[in-house]
This record gives sequence, C-alpha cells and structure tokens, in this order.
Amino acid sequence: MKKSQEYAWKILPELLNTEGISGNCGKIVELMEKKLKALKAKYEITHKGGVIIKLKGKDNSKVRVLTAHADTLGGMVKKIGGDGRVFIVPVGGVSPFSVEGEYVTVETVSGKRYRGTVVHNNPSAHVNASLSKEERSFENVSVRLDEKVKSAADVKKLGIGVGDYCYFDPRVEVTKSGFIKSRHLDDKAGVAALFGAVEYFARTKDIPAYETWFYISVAEETGNGTVSKLPQNCFELIAVDMGALGNGQTSDEYTVSICAKDSTGPFDYELRKKIVGIAEKNKIPYKVDIYPMYGSDAAAALRTGIDARHMLFGPGVDASHSFERLHRDSLNSTTALTVKYILEK
Ligand SMILES: [Zn+2]
Repeated sequence: MKKSQEYAWKILPELLNTEGISGNCGKIVELMEKKLKALKAKYEITHKGGVIIKLKGKDNSKVRVLTAHADTLGGMVKKIGGDGRVFIVPVGGVSPFSVEGEYVTVETVSGKRYRGTVVHNNPSAHVNASLSKEERSFENVSVRLDEKVKSAADVKKLGIGVGDYCYFDPRVEVTKSGFIKSRHLDDKAGVAALFGAVEYFARTKDIPAYETWFYISVAEETGNGTVSKLPQNCFELIAVDMGALGNGQTSDEYTVSICAKDSTGPFDYELRKKIVGIAEKNKIPYKVDIYPMYGSDAAAALRTGIDARHMLFGPGVDASHSFERLHRDSLNSTTALTVKYILEK
C-alpha cells in the first residue's frame, strides 16, 4: 500500500502543473495517458475526452465505477476593453475574490500564449480611494496583459479573442511538513488517489472483488462529467472528490472525508455503512461529514438513470475553489480506502 500512496503523492504536483480547464483538457489527458502507459494499464479515451481504465474482477457479472475529475476551474475571454484590458467569465465556480492578484496565461485558438494578472480595473491604492470597499465582480476585475497594449485593437492584433481560455497559475508548493498548496487540488488529488489504486493493481497480484472501472471525467466542474459510457450493470458508483472543510464542518486535512449528504441529497446509506466499515477494519483515519454547497459526478451519473448505489469520499481540501491546501495524510487515507474498497466484496 505504501508504494501506491507514495506514487499518488509523487504524481500529484505533476498533475497540478498540467493545464486542463473543463472543455479543454487535452494536455492533462495526454499526461494521464503517459502515466498509464508507464504502468502498462489498459485504458480507453471517450469521445468527450474522459479516460476509462477497466480491471477484471473475481466476479465480472457486475461493475463498480470509481470516478474522479481531471478538469479544473478557469476563465474564458468574454470581451476586450477599450483600454486593452481582457475581461473573462468563469468556467465553473470561480469567484473574482479567489483569483484577484493571480498570474494567468491567456491562450489563443492558434496556440499563442500571453501572460497577465487578474487585477482590479483601477488597482492602485494611491489612486483609487474606494479600492478596498468595492465588491468584486468580473466587471471590475479583469486581466492586465503583460504586453504593450493600449486599446482593444492592440489586443486583437495579438490574436486574443472572445472564447480564448485563461489559465490561473496553480502555484504548486510542496512543504517539508507534508502539505501541498495549489489551486485545483479539487479534484486532481482525487485523480492521484485513483492512479494510486491503478498502480496498486498493476504492481500486485491482488484482484478486485468485482470488475472495476476507473472513470476520469473532464467536465465535472460544469456538471457534465461522468454522464455517458456508464455500464448498465454498474451497481456501485463512487466519486472520489474533495472533502469540504470550513466552519461547522467535521472534515479535516488529515483524514479521508466520507460524505453522508451533499446539496443533491443523502448518499446511499448501505454503501456508506459498508465504506465506513472498511475504513474501521483497516484502521484508515476518516471523518463522516455533510457538505452544504456541493455537487459531484456521483449525482451527475445518477441523473442519467443508472440503477446504482452511490457514495462520495476523498481527501480533505482547505479553501476549496480558491487557495487550496491538502496534507499528505489525507491523500494516503484516500488511496488506502480506495484500494481496500475495491478488494472488498
Ligand atoms: Zn470536485
């Protein structure tokens, strides 16, 4: 197990440093393919760009699906201002306050890349008296390009136009104390845990209890992730996605969070009890929690009409959709619970 946990921890910074906004995940999918080839794991790519890894089980009459999402939040160019500012709209749940001050890359459709910073339209403290009081929106916060541009025409000359993607710098930092600080731990940490499990079954002779599919989706943040290609005989569906920390929450950064209920309603009670039992039996540190403002690929998959029990667990991530942070302990627990669950009848 330790090797798989180390593998998940090792690949996470690489996943975080590879771009992939919902609707534009080519680079992150390419990286995952490289990893899967190195593990000699068989996989397929869906038309939508998702990755499915299938493992045979002791019982192949029904299928377990475990899903995590490789897509992240980002921005898209909405309009170019008269002074050369680039205005963006969020892709997924991005708040202006969570990206104000962030360095970005704007990528044109022809592949040209330009650097910039998300700042207020009138950002100097020595000039704007109301700067600290103004409520932020994507109308008064925009991208200041690091190019000599003074007009919309100057920006258009660079090739930048409406619909171009804007990547927020993840700013990955691994600390000696075992934290990873980065944007997009939601849900690249979940992807890392699933890859830890893929590594486990590639390396050991252990066989899953049932046929098992790892489904890495690429459009979860926009509600459109694990909604196709699900096998009709799927009987259990698990989303491995971040645990929500904050005031009033039970989850923390050092355990695996098991979600009893999110905004879409309670998860399957019997499956929750089974997963808690597996954590107890294997002495995996866990917390059961309720996420007040949360949806996932498990709920998205259920809306397609599949008749499966569903659950969600994952590493506790602080300051979600913002300046996120995760501790290694939490990822270790998630990887361990994933493997033990797959082995259990
Ligand atoms: Zn997520």
